Amino acid sequence: MKIQSKITLLFLTLTGGILLLLNAFILYFDYQFNYEDFFKRLESRVNLAAQINLYPGEQSRAYLEVRNNYLERLESEQELITKADAKGQIDNADLPREFYQELMKSNRARFQLKNKFFAGKLVTVDGSRYMVVVTALNPYGMRELKKLQQILLFGFAGSLILVFFVGKAFSYYTFLPVRKLTEKVNSIKSTNLHTRLDEPGGKDEIAELTQTFNHMLNRLATAFETQTNFISNASHELRTPLTVISSEVELALNRATVDEESRKALNVIAAQTDKLTQILSSLLLLAQSGYDGKKQQWQQLRIDELIWQAIGQVKNIYPDSQIEVDFKDLPADEQQLTSLGNENLLCLALTNILSNACKYSQNKLVQVKLSYQDQSIVTTISDQGIGIPPTEVQHIFEPFYRASNAQAYQGQGIGLPLALNIIRIHNGSINIQTAVNQGTVLQLFLPVVKDI
Ligand code: ADP
Repeated sequence: MKIQSKITLLFLTLTGGILLLLNAFILYFDYQFNYEDFFKRLESRVNLAAQINLYPGEQSRAYLEVRNNYLERLESEQELITKADAKGQIDNADLPREFYQELMKSNRARFQLKNKFFAGKLVTVDGSRYMVVVTALNPYGMRELKKLQQILLFGFAGSLILVFFVGKAFSYYTFLPVRKLTEKVNSIKSTNLHTRLDEPGGKDEIAELTQTFNHMLNRLATAFETQTNFISNASHELRTPLTVISSEVELALNRATVDEESRKALNVIAAQTDKLTQILSSLLLLAQSGYDGKKQQWQQLRIDELIWQAIGQVKNIYPDSQIEVDFKDLPADEQQLTSLGNENLLCLALTNILSNACKYSQNKLVQVKLSYQDQSIVTTISDQGIGIPPTEVQHIFEPFYRASNAQAYQGQGIGLPLALNIIRIHNGSINIQTAVNQGTVLQLFLPVVKDI
């Protein structure tokens, strides 16, 4: 679960818990207050009833008048005044046993049975004990409690919904800088290692993280540059002695005095020197292309024209190759065939892939298809060659890697990594599908010009 969702959930749980506790407090105290209040009203009626019924005289008549004229009658209010020991009377009055026992024990008692409330006391008059009890229903109190329960419940649900959205917005905005940072870091590749993250002012954690990333990028860029410079320098340095060897061998071969055996040896040296020179050139290109494609000259290019150019080059290397071009899915809009890039590099990538298709299929038919898909120009190159063993496919873009079934064919293992580097610096990608002894389909995706 993302931290953003975790924070929302935590927010919701905490607020929900606090609200639940608060609601429980409110309900409890309201319940207490409501009941206490009603019992007090009943008890005042108990006192009044005792005065009126047990102490007859002028005063009791005045009490009776006040009660009849000014005291509100409670719902189902009933009075019961009886001698305390007349047990039969009490049973008839349907008093709860607990209430009666409490009354006898403490001289006063309160009791509640569902919505019915009982209050009573024992009064001694002229040596006789009387029990004065008043009972009534408390519909208002119950209704009030129910209403409060509903209000609290709705309030609780509403607050939770509100807190959920507030929490979501809060966590979204809290993590916005982190998301932006991740997006920016993700967009930094070997081809744009010079890009740096915008450092926000201040000294918070995000600023610290941004600085750390930028320092790391500085170190990475330096390491990359050192490696690239090393390869370019080494290639240059090695090329000079190789040129010297090559020309000396040629001179020696032109001498008439060279015997047959020496000539053979010189020919081997010449071939191997050529091979070494080729490897060095590829290495140099690989190092240059892998780092910063923007150093190269970029222009708008028609991919269909580049394909024809690449086919021409492959025909020079493999004159017997058969390449069929299928442009029937070609988009009508010329713009959808145009990409921004370096002509030489892209042509080199296409030539490498095409010549592999011809080489590893021993000049069987190779098909080249061009189409447009999701803002990309797709070049599909299919051959019917030896394919690549499934466990080895993941390695073929590594420099100098050659599949186990390709050993009988000439090659250095640089063509595909070079092509991948070139396609990457053009913001494109390569997709490969292959089956041993059936063939290989390689797709190049290059963004159309307006997307770059
Ligand atoms: P190489 O000079 O060996 O062809 P590449 O870098 O061009 O080097 O290719 C790397 C490896 O990928 C090859 O050695 C070969 O094993 C495999 N490969 C590339 N293209 C094909 C293809 N069309 N069919 C079969 N194998 C291929």
